Amino acid sequence: MDMSRYNLSDYASRKKIEYILRKLPNIISNILIDLVNPIRKKIVINNIHPKWITLFITNFCSARCEHCFYSKELNNKVEELNLENLKKIFSSLKKPLNTLRVTGGEPFLNKNLENFIIFIDQYKLSKKVSITTHGMIPKLDERVKNMLQKLKYVHLHIGVSLDGLNETHDAFRKIKNGFNLAIKHLSDFRNFTDHYKRFTFSTTTSLIRKISIKKNKDDETLELFELLKYLKKEVGVPSVGFDHIRTIKDDVFNVPNEILSDFGLPPKKNDATKIKHTRADDVQLSINEIEEVNNELNKSGFLGNDYLTIRRLEIEHEILNTKKRIVDCLAGYIDCVIYPSLDVSVCESTKPFANLNSFNFNLLKLLNSDDAIERRKITNKCSCTHPCHLSDSMAYDTKFLKEYFSSKRL
Ligand code: SF4
Ligand code: SF4
Repeated sequence: MDMSRYNLSDYASRKKIEYILRKLPNIISNILIDLVNPIRKKIVINNIHPKWITLFITNFCSARCEHCFYSKELNNKVEELNLENLKKIFSSLKKPLNTLRVTGGEPFLNKNLENFIIFIDQYKLSKKVSITTHGMIPKLDERVKNMLQKLKYVHLHIGVSLDGLNETHDAFRKIKNGFNLAIKHLSDFRNFTDHYKRFTFSTTTSLIRKISIKKNKDDETLELFELLKYLKKEVGVPSVGFDHIRTIKDDVFNVPNEILSDFGLPPKKNDATKIKHTRADDVQLSINEIEEVNNELNKSGFLGNDYLTIRRLEIEHEILNTKKRIVDCLAGYIDCVIYPSLDVSVCESTKPFANLNSFNFNLLKLLNSDDAIERRKITNKCSCTHPCHLSDSMAYDTKFLKEYFSSKRL
């Protein structure tokens, strides 16, 4: 499963507040954050209503990526959310989400996708919808354009995942000519931004051994940087993001085994042990390598002044190093995850705790149920590097907010 890009505007829902905080001397803005943030946090904890939802809209996917932590679920069971159920679930919300993150599987393989997004737009159920795609769906450009012509309220963001240059990407994703198709769609998206003000797009690259530390024989350039240069200069991609691959086994800490998610990377093919050795061992960077790549990215200028991404990558690294809770995670209070089976979990790193069928599709009722309260009690000490839950929680972390508003890099 690929992750959608986190957006700066999600941090300061009111741009004016951000503007004022930045104008104030640090000492004053810090005092204000100290005073106001605990109240903000209390409000979201006492009035549970998600601001971000991750929606696995289908279990189907046409790719077979080596780093897919969702691979056990893919295409096994014929499961995808239908429009009727989606409408019931999202109609139960009382206020608009900041962002609805639509993922899977490959979201564009769910034929209900466009009608569902148009429904979200019609009833103003989310300010932003971010769809993560592998970008290798035939006629993706036409489908996105058709949607854009109908949207009146929602900001649509499409995040396309790319794992390397042509050869690496296609070998990794197991789709022939997939890189070229994804690049064609990115070029189309580039043109759409001239016509549709509520549209943005980006790419996300998983930091994997095959691309992040592999040097080109001739000039010693990292393939990761060759890809980034190509995307920025030749294709005109305005924003590039990065994720560390997720294993569950190596990047989630202090979650009791009985509620730890079953997701994870599959055993490597033809591996006799089928337990200890996972594909992660082939693709995942070690903690030291992660630090090296973070430093390189930081120095290279590819991250520009993207303070949020830089800090998130650094915090992920710190969590891997210390196995400690660095940011107070609010998963289940401000965000949640919905699966095609209608199961709901507080986060992707833990198992679902309830099913929407038992709550008549009322998501708010489910998130305020005794089961949800019990689950959040268990997850109030754990720690993990999940980029979305981490970013969402950083928006309520006093220490981080002080850093963010006093940062000169923005
Ligand atoms: S595109 Fe790749 S990572 Fe995403 S769901 Fe499909 S197989 Fe998994
Ligand atoms: S830290 Fe948050 S996202 Fe990670 S396992 Fe715990 S509750 Fe889930």
